[in-house]
Amino acid sequence: MTEKPTRVRFAPSPTGHMHLGSARTALYNYLLAKKTGGKFILRIEDTDQKRYVPGAEQELIDGLHWLGLDHDEGPDIGGPFGPYRQTDRKSIYDEHIQILIGKGKAYPCFCSPERLTSVREEQMKNKEQPHYDGMCRSLEPVEARKRVEAGEKHVIRFKMEKEGKTVVNDLLRGEIILDNHVLDDSVLIKSDGWPTYHFAAMVDDHLMEITHVFRGSEWLGTFPLHANIIRAFGWEEPIWIHLSVFLKPSGKGKMSKRETAEALKDGYSIFVKDMNELGFIPEGLNNWTALMGWGAGETEDVLTMFEMIDKFDIRKLNASPAAINFNKLDYFNGEHIRRLSIDDLAARVKPYFVNEGLVVDEQKLLKVIPIIRERLVTLDDCLPFAAWFFKDSVDFTKEELIAKNMTAAETYEMGVEILDILEGLPELSHSVAEEPLRSYVEKKQLAPNQVFGFLRIAVSGQKVSPPLFESMEIVGKKIVLERVKQALSVLNQENE
Ligand code: GLU
Repeated sequence: MTEKPTRVRFAPSPTGHMHLGSARTALYNYLLAKKTGGKFILRIEDTDQKRYVPGAEQELIDGLHWLGLDHDEGPDIGGPFGPYRQTDRKSIYDEHIQILIGKGKAYPCFCSPERLTSVREEQMKNKEQPHYDGMCRSLEPVEARKRVEAGEKHVIRFKMEKEGKTVVNDLLRGEIILDNHVLDDSVLIKSDGWPTYHFAAMVDDHLMEITHVFRGSEWLGTFPLHANIIRAFGWEEPIWIHLSVFLKPSGKGKMSKRETAEALKDGYSIFVKDMNELGFIPEGLNNWTALMGWGAGETEDVLTMFEMIDKFDIRKLNASPAAINFNKLDYFNGEHIRRLSIDDLAARVKPYFVNEGLVVDEQKLLKVIPIIRERLVTLDDCLPFAAWFFKDSVDFTKEELIAKNMTAAETYEMGVEILDILEGLPELSHSVAEEPLRSYVEKKQLAPNQVFGFLRIAVSGQKVSPPLFESMEIVGKKIVLERVKQALSVLNQENE
């Protein structure tokens, strides 16, 4: 692998939400740039005005930032190869299409959409692959120029060689060889004057001195056209890496809209923008997407960004499509959560409590983190485990309080004795409270869960909570006693 500084680009079109596949493409670009001491460029490919979605560019920039994939050059921060938004580069495309026309490698085409439709229909009737029939290919350049200057509506097409073969090379897939006569005279400049992706991206990659192009495998079909455009200019080609697509969990096809909506109900999304709210952290997400298509080692490898940069090797990328496996995302997310420092994790979970309208005592939160972090798969899991720490009161029903294999009256009696023990202790730290409660369990020959289950519900209002003694220590004696008393009064209520 080249160790020379690379220039790589993430070149999304602002046509919708940023997808997980884009997050991975951006990540691979970033890893290669960092690995080689190169530059990671953001280029916005917005020449298709019909598909433009306002706000999508900002979402992409925010997504990259959240993922920790900060770019070195881009429309928001500028750079020496700008502008970085294609709609700001029109004069560059205008100038470059004239170069190709001058070289006899491109030509204006005046065919009307109606004519093109009927040509296509005729070809389909004859079981031919639809293609441009070359009507305007042989127009005299002088004549063509006159018509253009007279304002006649036209597109500009690539003049594909009809003889010979095109050989292109993808780093993951090897050589692809095609007979030139099957390649079309594709449109480079549309009738509205804007370039197609094919033309704009090739010009930009060259002018921005891009060394490696990572892009989706959906571009394999037009890959020979792209190589031919570059060769027509006489430019050097980048290294091409067509990444496989993400398949739905069953491995059969891409996620549909309906499946995407279903996934959201289960707490997963294929859009980066949702991930924070769903409690995923960028470290977990990057690790997960990275290994869908990169054999970094074991597929369960938990890797930090630093380790990924260190290990990244484009020769270890693989071309086969990967099925989305959200259970693995959970795994990586949980693992990375456990690697965060207490302070960092506290800062990241705090907003989830605040969004629930809770007032978070920072000191208490720092004590809560160590006892919940083993259990967190996503950040929002902090709510079921720990929201009760920040509530003034907790709720429980009589039913919930009644200990297993006991009546309400027996539980009440046990509760009174437990209260008595707790009241007699100087404080409710783990070391002070555990021994007397365990001896009580033994003396009374109770099951531990009868005592601790009751206390857990009384103190936290929950059947599942972080470790009981640590939890009691955090809320403190005063509140524990209040809540046990409240539990006793609920147990004492007549059944309705
Ligand atoms: N704008 C293209 C897309 O979003 C980019 C492909 C490329 O990276 O060249 O698919």
